[in-house]
Amino acid sequence: MDRGAVVVEDEAAQRQMLVDYLGKQNFRVSGVEGGATLRRLVERELPALVLLDVGLPGEDGFALARGLRERSGRIGIIMVTAAADTVDRVVGLETGADDYIAKPFEPRELLARVKSVLRRATGATPAAGPRVRMGRRSISRSGCWSTPAAAPKRRWRRASSTC
Ligand code: CA
Repeated sequence: MDRGAVVVEDEAAQRQMLVDYLGKQNFRVSGVEGGATLRRLVERELPALVLLDVGLPGEDGFALARGLRERSGRIGIIMVTAAADTVDRVVGLETGADDYIAKPFEPRELLARVKSVLRRATGATPAAGPRVRMGRRSISRSGCWSTPAAAPKRRWRRASSTC
């Protein structure tokens, strides 16, 4: 990986732990404490990956994710959420993040997610593709057709799939 990774985390110990861990895994990684420093860093060099803590003083992780995504579609963004809160996850992904991980997490799980997001961001392997929609039906990459269930009034028509 030529471009580096950035850890955005306001808690110094947590930030240092992530920087050390990713550094040991041969990532070129820097840690910043918030949005202002992140912006300065991104001005200089677009990182390959940003690990974004959601709970930051000032601009939170969601706002920063949105800003990064507007800037480039090629940055891999992983949100680090404080709780396994569904709302956080959904909002995180809607702001343009590629993935999220909830604290506390296993370093190995984080590493797996980092690698998978980088693979997608650098386009080395295609992600499991979105289904192609054709009218009401959709077809997956494996070629299975599926038809959604009809509206509640026509209850007899159930969702069907060729697989
Ligand atoms: Ca925090």
